[in-house]
Amino acid sequence: MGLIQKLPAVVDPLPGGRHLVDAVDTIVNWARANSLWPLTFGTSCCAIEMMASSMPRYDISRFGSEVFRATPRQADLIILAGTIVDKMVEVLKTLYEQLPGPKYVIAMGSCTISGGPFIYDNYSVVKGADRIIPVDVYIPGCPPRPEALFHGLLLLQEKIKKESLRRPWVDTTLHTAPFVNPFTRAALEWETQEKEREPAAAEARAKFAAENPDFKPFKAERVLPPPMPDLPRPAGKGAGLPHGELFDLVRAAFPSVVLHKNEGADRASVDALPSDAPLDFVVPPGEYLAFARFLRDEPRLALDLFFDLTAVDWEQPPAPNGATTPLAHRFHLVVQLLSTVHGHLVFFRVPLAENEVPDDSRKTAVLAEVPSLVPLWPGANFKEREAYDMFGIRFSGHPDLRRLLNPETFEGFPLRKDFTHPAMVKRPY
Ligand code: SF4
Repeated sequence: MGLIQKLPAVVDPLPGGRHLVDAVDTIVNWARANSLWPLTFGTSCCAIEMMASSMPRYDISRFGSEVFRATPRQADLIILAGTIVDKMVEVLKTLYEQLPGPKYVIAMGSCTISGGPFIYDNYSVVKGADRIIPVDVYIPGCPPRPEALFHGLLLLQEKIKKESLRRPWVDTTLHTAPFVNPFTRAALEWETQEKEREPAAAEARAKFAAENPDFKPFKAERVLPPPMPDLPRPAGKGAGLPHGELFDLVRAAFPSVVLHKNEGADRASVDALPSDAPLDFVVPPGEYLAFARFLRDEPRLALDLFFDLTAVDWEQPPAPNGATTPLAHRFHLVVQLLSTVHGHLVFFRVPLAENEVPDDSRKTAVLAEVPSLVPLWPGANFKEREAYDMFGIRFSGHPDLRRLLNPETFEGFPLRKDFTHPAMVKRPY
């Protein structure tokens, strides 16, 4: 493009030169607009619609954009399809800079345009892609359908066809012949024809109604499938230990362990619990590690698979039975284990007391500490890093306790109730 961009400076001053440049403009823009090469780039659910648009049902190739490129060096269009988070910003800037010019950006969906449903109380979503890179066309919707994407593509084509070699990508005033989109023209013609036909159609409708007074227009009815019968859930081979036996085993080894929200439970009440809801134990902090080891090593339990670990910040600790309850701490660490040998699933939670921290540094300080379960289940590694990253709970003995989702420089812990961030917009209602 280097040479052709120098053309106006040389040719414009010549007699008739402006017309030649205009003609070249038209040809170049026509070719460019009808052979857009989008980058393969999708960050969230809108990308599903973008992908659907390239499938045979919608067939984006009808608009000359058929080859989604895997590298920015071979693309000239980014369709921003999906939520853009802070960690994506540098990547997106780099991709945009790697596109050869002229290059274009379509912002598809409300997340990309403004942050969409994530605009309030959110610290990680970029509130508008045009804060990072220039955007040519905005397509609202959540998600916009493929037809809307095509409409955006046609708008972009119109924009490209108004560009000029004299001032590439910016000036739309130098274009001498206004571009008329054939699709817009066809839609206008169709609308005009409909308007012309309307009096005749109205007359025919009235005549038909008079001649057929009993006619009832067909009304589509929704056909619902017959309801599925309630099938009893079989106990099955992998159901594991019955609740009562499991409860007895645990209580015999750890008398201080109780059931969550059912602290006075005994064998009879546990037997009556639904068999498909796992037991949820509350463990005193001092017995956390020994209890976890017991669950793994006791052959009748054999909870060998680390299923999940998460935490809850109650802010005000729940104390349904008075301040002496073992739940009366701000954080609960919740662990889920599965026995691949027997098939049973067990939850247990440990309430964690808050560390003594000066008030002015509470929001950015680690507030609770608990031993790591990585030596027992290596699969606990990432889960504990996530709980550390989101809640500021330290896992002593963890081999690599770093943030998992947020950057290392991030201040605070987003899932704590007292978390605030400069980028957060407070919901006004
Ligand atoms: S606009 Fe809606 S569909 Fe698109 S990425 Fe956001 S939430 Fe998903």
